[in-house]
Amino acid sequence: MDKQKILPNLSPQDLQRYARHLVLPQIGEEGQQRLKAARVLLVGVGGLGSAIAHYLAGVGVGCIGLVDDDVVTLSNLQRQVLHGTAWLNRPKVESAKSRIADLNPDVEVIAHHTRFMRDSGLRIASGYDLIVDGTDNFPSRYDISATCLRLGIPYVYGAIFQLEGQVSVLCTKEGPCYACVFPEPPPETVPTGEQAGILGAVPGTIGTIQATEVIKMIVGFGSPLIGRLLIYDGEGMRFDEIQIEKNSECPACSNVLPS
Ligand SMILES: [Zn+2]
Repeated sequence: MDKQKILPNLSPQDLQRYARHLVLPQIGEEGQQRLKAARVLLVGVGGLGSAIAHYLAGVGVGCIGLVDDDVVTLSNLQRQVLHGTAWLNRPKVESAKSRIADLNPDVEVIAHHTRFMRDSGLRIASGYDLIVDGTDNFPSRYDISATCLRLGIPYVYGAIFQLEGQVSVLCTKEGPCYACVFPEPPPETVPTGEQAGILGAVPGTIGTIQATEVIKMIVGFGSPLIGRLLIYDGEGMRFDEIQIEKNSECPACSNVLPS
C-alpha cells in the first residue's frame, strides 16, 4: 500500500488496546499506525461481511466504509453474526455500525445503505485503499473488480457456497482481475445461496481469511493471495490452492489505466 502516507500517532489507549499487535513482529508500532491510517471499503454486510467487519474493527482499521442495501431478517442470523434479533427489519449497515461502535469506538464507520453498482460504486469507493468483498452475487463481483481497476486499488475477493468457499487478492499490478479468472458469469441455472443453503460457520472461515489478507495488504508483510485462488472444502475439511494468472487479452483489465 501507499508507503508515503503520513502515519497517525498511537494514543496511550491504542497502546493498550493493540498490545498483542505491538509485540507481534509482523505488525509492531508502525504496522498499527498503518492500520489506523487505513480506509477499507466493505461491500456486503452479510455472512462474510460479519466476520470481516468484526476483525477489521477489532484490529483498528481507521475508517471502514460499509455498503449494503439489505435489512436484517430472521434467516440471516444463522450465520451473520454481526447482527442480532433487536435489529430485525432494520438496515444491515446501521446494525453493523452500532456493533462496530461498541467493539471499537475509535473506528470511523461510513454507512451506505445502497446497492454497489458500477457507476455509484466508483464515487463511493474513491478515497479507499482497497475493497473487500462480502457480496453474494456475480454482477457485484464484476462491478467491484471494474471499480478497483479504475481506482488502482486491490480487491480482496471471497465467495461461499454450501460448505465451500474461495479467497483471492485480485486487481493488483502483478495479478489477475476477477474477469481474468471468471471471464463469463455462470449460467443462471446455478442456484443462489438462498436456494442452495449455506452452513452457518463457513462465512466465518472465509471472511476471517479475507480479513487476514486485508491486514497483510495494509501493513505490507507476508505473501498475500495474489495469483492464487485458495479453495476451502468444509465437508472434507481441506484447503487447496490453484494458480491464477493475468489474461493479457482480458477485456476488463488489459487496457485499463488507473484514473
Ligand atoms: Zn482481467
